[in-house]
Amino acid sequence: MRAFVISGPGRAGVEEVPAPVTGPGQVVVDVDRVGICGTDVEIFTGAMAYFGEGKAAYPMRVGHEWCGTVSSVGAEVEPDWLGRRVTGDTMLGCGRCRLCRGSRQHLCADRYEIGIRGGWPGALAEQLLVPAAALHALPDSIDDTAGAMVEPGGNALRAAQAAVSGPGQRVLIYGPGTIGLLVAGFALAESAEVHVVGPTEASLGLARELGAHGVWTAGELPELAYDAVVDATNDAAVPAQALARVAPGGRIVYIGLSGSASTIDTRQLVLKDVTAIGVLSASPGLAGTIERYAAGAVDPSRLVAATIGLARVADALSGWRPADAGPGPKILVDPRR
Ligand SMILES: [Zn+2]
Ligand SMILES: [Zn+2]
Repeated sequence: MRAFVISGPGRAGVEEVPAPVTGPGQVVVDVDRVGICGTDVEIFTGAMAYFGEGKAAYPMRVGHEWCGTVSSVGAEVEPDWLGRRVTGDTMLGCGRCRLCRGSRQHLCADRYEIGIRGGWPGALAEQLLVPAAALHALPDSIDDTAGAMVEPGGNALRAAQAAVSGPGQRVLIYGPGTIGLLVAGFALAESAEVHVVGPTEASLGLARELGAHGVWTAGELPELAYDAVVDATNDAAVPAQALARVAPGGRIVYIGLSGSASTIDTRQLVLKDVTAIGVLSASPGLAGTIERYAAGAVDPSRLVAATIGLARVADALSGWRPADAGPGPKILVDPRR
């Protein structure tokens, strides 16, 4: 089958590789759609921290935001999965440790992350091998575009739920990228008052279209009492800005990761009686995201700028966008093209 392979920093292309074969408890999925995200760019450039920690090594096969159709099932797998449209968890825990047994397998020290960590091949290929335990069925009301947006949605839903504890709350979101805009969507669906801050006016158009109450560049951001502040950027300066902006007694939610250490003054955390929350992975948010997409509470397809074929993935990871791309931050891939 054809797969997108990153052989080293800045070196990648489509290769012919052996098709996956199921073991016990596993399924093979024919991939319908895959999203490209900042994590894939970090793997392409070599900036990803897992390289330095020995948790990732070239050659890499990336792709962790996907949907597809189950085309074969291994031993010990419920045969009903065959032919079903699915997405799945990126995080694959060992299944034996204290975290895995406590439904927190996304934090397992021995986990694979599909297309990211431990060498588990990713979804930028015609087929993907996945443990059946990681699957989530997709209803017909979620099309392939939205199906590939479930994984980023799961991250964003967790951040939105950590930020918003009731209707009318004022939430400030730093970063109008895919995660920030999805956080905005979920927070709006909870009747929060949503503000989005971005680097440039041009980056904020979609936030305005999605119905954010306030849309600001950093210089214009008003001094309001923000009940919660979400950092969905990769800017090392933003975590401290989030803490400075949040109202006393509020919450700050950290979901962005910067390339260098980002520091906060914990005295401010204490003196303002602020709760700080970190969010890693979509895992506990996948089912809730599927429910909300299916109910029409959030429409993730508005964030998708274009759908490309495998042959253009290396270009897209280098910053290329098709001439007819829309204003959204997300590029999807159809590996059958
Ligand atoms: Zn991602
Ligand atoms: Zn484990």
